[in-house]
Amino acid sequence: MTRVFNFGAGPAMLPTAVMERAQQEFLDYQGMGASVIEISHRSKEFDAIINRADALLKELAEIPDNYKILYVHGGAQMQFSAIPMNLIQRLPGRKVSFVLTGNWAEKASKEAAKYGHPENVASSKDSNYDRIPAFDVADLDPESSYLHIVSNNTLFGTRWQEFPETGDTPLVADMTSEFLSRSLDISQFGIIFAGLQKNLGPAGLALVLIREDLLDHALAETPGLLHYKTYAEQHSLANTNNTFAIYMMSLVLQWLQDQGGVPAMETLNRRKAQILYDAIDNSDFYSGTAHPEHRSLMNVTFTLAAEDLLGRFVQEAEDNGLYALKGHRVVGGARASIYNAMPVAGCEALAQFMAEFERSRG
Ligand code: PMP
Repeated sequence: MTRVFNFGAGPAMLPTAVMERAQQEFLDYQGMGASVIEISHRSKEFDAIINRADALLKELAEIPDNYKILYVHGGAQMQFSAIPMNLIQRLPGRKVSFVLTGNWAEKASKEAAKYGHPENVASSKDSNYDRIPAFDVADLDPESSYLHIVSNNTLFGTRWQEFPETGDTPLVADMTSEFLSRSLDISQFGIIFAGLQKNLGPAGLALVLIREDLLDHALAETPGLLHYKTYAEQHSLANTNNTFAIYMMSLVLQWLQDQGGVPAMETLNRRKAQILYDAIDNSDFYSGTAHPEHRSLMNVTFTLAAEDLLGRFVQEAEDNGLYALKGHRVVGGARASIYNAMPVAGCEALAQFMAEFERSRG
């Protein structure tokens, strides 16, 4: 069996060591004679798994004690509803602010409009979201219940290099496509959330970190399973949670710790991204779509000098074990998603393929 280098945006490549471990213990978890997928979410064995996930997250992300770790149903987009329901009436007026940096921010803003009054305080839509727009925190409405940003823009290949200091206004960050790929000061944020399916594990669940004082503002009509307090009080087990996803995440977190944790991974991620950005910048055939100062370390987006060669580029890459390089239709071109699990060798192989493709077709 050979495994491809999977550049898909998500669900994405997971570390081979994690997949092998899951395979190894799939039928018989720790001598129980039952699979982890078959045991109760209330069993002592699962309790140990979820506690281990919490402990690893706390250590890896340096999560302060006044934050709760929640595993919430519905993936990242469900949080576009849950966050306004839980937080929009923190201040009277139900105002909330967004920085529009792509489709995911737009979608979240539109969803918040069902519950209150979102204001888009900055946007780079005019340049097809090729950058993070200039934004002055002084322009933030002090009556805003929170500011929502998307820290890494999966489709457009941009990221916030630094985060705004928002003072009393809680900063809410969608980190779906970069959580645990870079060091953070968690205390800068009121809420961080991330769908699991890129850096953390399988699809369908979201990890939510929330500052404790933000748990008490939910709208009365918030469904029990979208109410963050329900998750905080019942250790994310108010109902039968996705135990297998939590188990897989615990293995991914263990793997990350074995790699030296987030700082070591961030160094590696910079190196990987640099290999691809160099391949783009040193050629006349490929062009990066994101402004160089706003480039993502996770999603490298680029176009080919001749767009009609894209189909061949993607197919020939696939024939060479480089899978899922087609970009999102709103940007066009190609996209290489290089989350934590993508080895340096994958980026080197892609850079080499790009050079060869340019030589033969360019
Ligand atoms: N936010 C971002 C930044 C994403 O990249 C994605 C998925 N690609 C989502 C939200 C939506 O995630 P989900 O499919 O888990 O709802």
